[in-house]
Amino acid sequence: MNRIWTIVAAVTLFAASAHAEDGKVIASIKPLHSLVAAIMEGSGDAPVLLVTGSASPHEFALRPSQRRALEHADVVFYMGDSFELFLDKTLAALPASVERAPMENAPGITLYRLRLAHGFEADDDDVPGAHDLHLWMSPANAKAMAGEIVRTLSALYPQNRTLYAANAIKLDEKIDALDARLQRRLAPLADKPVIVFHDAFQYFEKSYGLNVAGSITINPDRPPGAKRVRALREKIVQAGVVCVFREPSFDGHVVASLLGGTKARSGVLDPEGALLSPGPELYFQLMDGIARNLEDCLGS
Ligand SMILES: [Zn+2]
Repeated sequence: MNRIWTIVAAVTLFAASAHAEDGKVIASIKPLHSLVAAIMEGSGDAPVLLVTGSASPHEFALRPSQRRALEHADVVFYMGDSFELFLDKTLAALPASVERAPMENAPGITLYRLRLAHGFEADDDDVPGAHDLHLWMSPANAKAMAGEIVRTLSALYPQNRTLYAANAIKLDEKIDALDARLQRRLAPLADKPVIVFHDAFQYFEKSYGLNVAGSITINPDRPPGAKRVRALREKIVQAGVVCVFREPSFDGHVVASLLGGTKARSGVLDPEGALLSPGPELYFQLMDGIARNLEDCLGS
């Protein structure tokens, strides 16, 4: 190696060691990653996201490179044991040096059980009796999550404690403003029955008094049979459903086929941020986007 290259290599090594925390903070899904990113803003480091692009957290598989990254992480933020099924085995096998931070255990969090009856269809991989961990869909829970994120990061990186605390105050204020905005926008839509694609909205509807009559959760690769279509159509008619919402990563044709012969309209809701770019703003884009899509379909 000639002398210049030796110097370049040494400088590169030095630069790498100055960012020792790169890739050490990992978050499972976009809404949670967004809150972690907001708390870390300005620290020079950002969390790594596992479920990228338009992938669904309910049907995701880790890449080998992600499994390796997890082994070398300082901390993994995730919703909880019954949510990120793609993480279960990997988390159990991680060295003790990797801290696990499940949001379902955050102090102050409100937990509801999964709804497996009364018109709500379970995802294939849902565990009976477990909690519904779409926790971010309630702003109050998002604040509890932010608190837990701050405590966890401050213990790991005490040099950034003041920054995290300042970011948490800003984040709390933004979430309060979001909550007030959503209360105002959604009040006129309360009680109009809707059906959602998968049951991701329990916390949202309880926060804003929405009337979600059920979910359809159909496997996009296997269109529902005639019997299932008939039952879903009956549900739509009986509950006087105004809108049936699909999700962006699922084919619209299947939902369209359910609406034939009913008065329901169709819309799109994106509860896990499939269409959004990751980052500190994603959480707000996700929640405002749901309100806007509800207004678009239910308004008038
Ligand atoms: Zn979900």
